Amino acid sequence: MRVAILGTGYVGLTTGVCLAYLGHSVVCVDPVVEKIDSLRHGSIPIFEPGLEELLREASQRMGFTTNPAEAIPEAEVVVICVGTPVQADGTPDLSQLRSASESLGRHMGLHFTVVVNKSTVPIGSSNWVEALVCAAFEESHDEKAEARFAVASNPEFLREGSAVADSLYPDRIVLGTEDLRALEILCALYRPLIDQDFPAPAFCPRPPGVTAIPFVSTDLPSAELIKYAANAFLALKISFINEIGLLAQRVGADVGEIARGIGLDSRIGRQFLQAGLGWGGSCFAKDTSTLITTAAEYGLSLPIVGAAREVNQRLRARVLERLLDELKILKGKRIGLLGLAFKPNTDDLRDAPAIDIAKRLSLHGALVVAHDPVAMPRFQREQAGLPVALLDSPEGVFQRADAVVLVTEWQTYLDLTWEALQPVMRNPLLVDGRNVLDKQRLVAAGYRHVGIP
Ligand code: NAD
Repeated sequence: MRVAILGTGYVGLTTGVCLAYLGHSVVCVDPVVEKIDSLRHGSIPIFEPGLEELLREASQRMGFTTNPAEAIPEAEVVVICVGTPVQADGTPDLSQLRSASESLGRHMGLHFTVVVNKSTVPIGSSNWVEALVCAAFEESHDEKAEARFAVASNPEFLREGSAVADSLYPDRIVLGTEDLRALEILCALYRPLIDQDFPAPAFCPRPPGVTAIPFVSTDLPSAELIKYAANAFLALKISFINEIGLLAQRVGADVGEIARGIGLDSRIGRQFLQAGLGWGGSCFAKDTSTLITTAAEYGLSLPIVGAAREVNQRLRARVLERLLDELKILKGKRIGLLGLAFKPNTDDLRDAPAIDIAKRLSLHGALVVAHDPVAMPRFQREQAGLPVALLDSPEGVFQRADAVVLVTEWQTYLDLTWEALQPVMRNPLLVDGRNVLDKQRLVAAGYRHVGIP
């Protein structure tokens, strides 16, 4: 099947490469010239494990362009994967969605085209996309757009850092459309995924037990709301354990033990019960915010989702509170941060706790030094104004430090020879922002270990 992908970010690029790997003919469009240049040379502009290898295997069926006219007219399916960042008032910025929809309408061919919305968009946006595509098509083609295309919502659930595996072996595929023809075409597009009959790439094997993927076919607003409800639920699971963690810290209980004790209950489940610095990244803050503003448009408040956000906000101040408790004065103190990306295995810094922590520490006059295995070049570009000294090695972060904060639980930090690093610190205070380090071992090595919350 011929597919055009609009947007080559984490979602668009992964979707495009996976669809090409499954045998479809894919052209990815993005207005950013540097991204397209780098992709044409086989190099991916983001850090996503396995994606470059998969691109190598699928490259014969892939094209990259900045020109929509080279991708959209021939496509039977056009997938919109543009960004929908949140604005200061909590509502999403839909300007990329508007420009992609208008460009789609202008360039759409005369055959039947399925327009798939994979971007996370407020409820009702698919109707808006339909109207924009329709108007742009009719303006540029001088023909009626009626019955020439149909819009479907196909929310994306991949996680950065494991995007390839999440796309090849998803927990479910959700499709919302009122058009039977579109549903049939999209079933055919995803058939190899649904049936799991494609050969798994050697570097990303099929997990044991994965045989067929559940397929949820529903109406447009339900598909759109499924995405928001899923992210809100995951966000509140994390905030719930952190709220319990705040109390646990006061009463001398161990939040890790509590998470294990409740997570073994199959009705609760173990995932997303890791207490620590809370959630960051491009999705949870933006999607919970949009959910709340959407509900408000209908005269509803969502107190549970609001509380999840409030607890997460409180955690952002927690590292500073813990450091002030321990060090009393931060002015002139050297504080080392291990990790900048919002989670391991990605270079994404959107809403990363490290940025918040660095800002708060700088405001208190601390000297902040940091390391990240992959996100430092991006940090330099995107956070140029923040006074953070970036170091080449994690070991350097410990040199003469008054405290070290583990912000992102990269495996390389878990593997450090912690015993050898304690003596190089001025004050061996360690804040384990993710509660993943072996406290007993660190205390035995002479550290003062403090968890979050
Ligand atoms: P991103 O910002 O990394 O990528 C968006 C891309 O779209 C950029 O490369 C941008 O240049 C391009 N673009 C902008 N206007 C365009 C246009 N008119 N035509 C073609 N390309 C255009 O965003 P992302 O993280 O990939 O997220 C995309 C969407 O998917 C968002 O709505 C997000 O909420 C949702 N989502 C993201 C994730 C994730 O983990 N990142 C997971 C699930 C869903």
